Amino acid sequence: MSHSTGRRIVIAIDGPAGAGKSTLARRLAARLGFTYIDSGAMYRAVALWALRRNIDPSDRYRMQQLARAASIRFEPGSSRVWLNGEDVTEAIRDPDVSAAASVAATGAGLRQALVEQQRAMAVSASVVMEGRDIGSVVFPDADVKVFLDAGQEERVRRRVAELGQRQALPPEAEKAVAVQIKERDTRDRTRSEAPLVQAPDAIYVDSSGLSAEQVEESVLRIVRQRLSNGREHS
Ligand code: C5P
Repeated sequence: MSHSTGRRIVIAIDGPAGAGKSTLARRLAARLGFTYIDSGAMYRAVALWALRRNIDPSDRYRMQQLARAASIRFEPGSSRVWLNGEDVTEAIRDPDVSAAASVAATGAGLRQALVEQQRAMAVSASVVMEGRDIGSVVFPDADVKVFLDAGQEERVRRRVAELGQRQALPPEAEKAVAVQIKERDTRDRTRSEAPLVQAPDAIYVDSSGLSAEQVEESVLRIVRQRLSNGREHS
């Protein structure tokens, strides 16, 4: 699907950890035939590389160098992520990588390197891209911007369930995940470079208490409305 001008369409989904961005973005992309891009996976991939090489994620110069050197690829049609030719889909979900990614993401140089790659991905394809700064910085002219949120408790519950599918969790896991999510969100919201904010023209959606299907249907309605308005006025 593209506008009458023939340009590609960008749907930006931003919000805090555990709000359901990946599920929504993946479903929307499948429904619309767009390419799904998880920008957080790119921050995670560079952070993973740093941890493996014993590079401090707060070392901004070295992190920028890594981000420029990293080859990050998404397998078309799947959610698999490749770093320098290695499938790192599972490895980047480790909680240590989450924390390192959020520290590394405070650096302007690293961000610039990844933002350039994100923009390049939307040159030849219509995309649904999820992250923290997609509607505010990466694509300020995105066709549709959604700010997806959910209550803190629900976001923690979802993350615990997600992690529990991958590994056996100790009973105190919920507490630890709650602390990690809070720390990461605070860092993401308060950093000076591209903090997590709702873009003024983004639609706020609270996914608390809603199923993935319900969120998808309500956002799909918004998307269809926006895209057909755009066509009428162009
Ligand atoms: O989305 P996800 O939780 O996988 O992102 C991991 C981290 O990467 C976030 O906590 C955030 O610090 C960073 N990030 C970012 N900008 C994006 C996407 C992710 O700063 N567009």
